[in-house]
Amino acid sequence: MIKTKGIFLDLDNTLYSYEECHTFGLKCAFDFFVNQNVFSTYDSFYKSYENAKKQVKIRNKSLASSHSRLLYFKEVLEVQNTFSIKLAIGSTKAYWDGYFSKMKLFDDAVEFLEKYKDKLICIVTDLTCQIQLEKIEALGIEKYIDYIVTSEDAGIEKPHKNIFKLALLKTDLSNQEVVFIGDSYEKDYLGAQSVNIDSYHLNRLGTSLSKNKTISSLSELL
Ligand SMILES: [Mg+2]
Repeated sequence: MIKTKGIFLDLDNTLYSYEECHTFGLKCAFDFFVNQNVFSTYDSFYKSYENAKKQVKIRNKSLASSHSRLLYFKEVLEVQNTFSIKLAIGSTKAYWDGYFSKMKLFDDAVEFLEKYKDKLICIVTDLTCQIQLEKIEALGIEKYIDYIVTSEDAGIEKPHKNIFKLALLKTDLSNQEVVFIGDSYEKDYLGAQSVNIDSYHLNRLGTSLSKNKTISSLSELL
């Protein structure tokens, strides 16, 4: 049972499973590229995608844009000498349309949000604001969420203190008045602890890193 006034929550892999969405998104982007004669095998596409991601991450370290699929696909096309605006935007749209079509809330997330709907709920999440807002809308949970702080809002990603401080500022709560729950030990659990926010490490696989503050399901906090 959570007693604090506010609850700060991570989004990806905390309220829904990321992997299936991402895998299907990549497949849809690949299908788009096949139709446009950019790639013919998934392996060559995937290799280019991973290389592009690596380069974008080096240049955008600790920024929301380090996850930008538009930047990844743009880089893929540039490296292939096949760049056009139509292909960059089209592949990005294919990826996200596929991704959103697979999004589904974890059962315990529905229960959790319903139980704590009267508390102040703030999503604190890495990635660009537009995509994260669209995800929250697609999951149908906007009515439960009072504030959303993305790493694009904060100008830096978790576990940097500034993103947690911005969430406290926006919600007008002190670090003693909230708990943080997220699936990443480093970004969520340790990040929140670094500004003295009590935190839980949600580890659905059950492998414990943080011992007494590890939970395997949100149901444990009901
Ligand atoms: Mg996460």
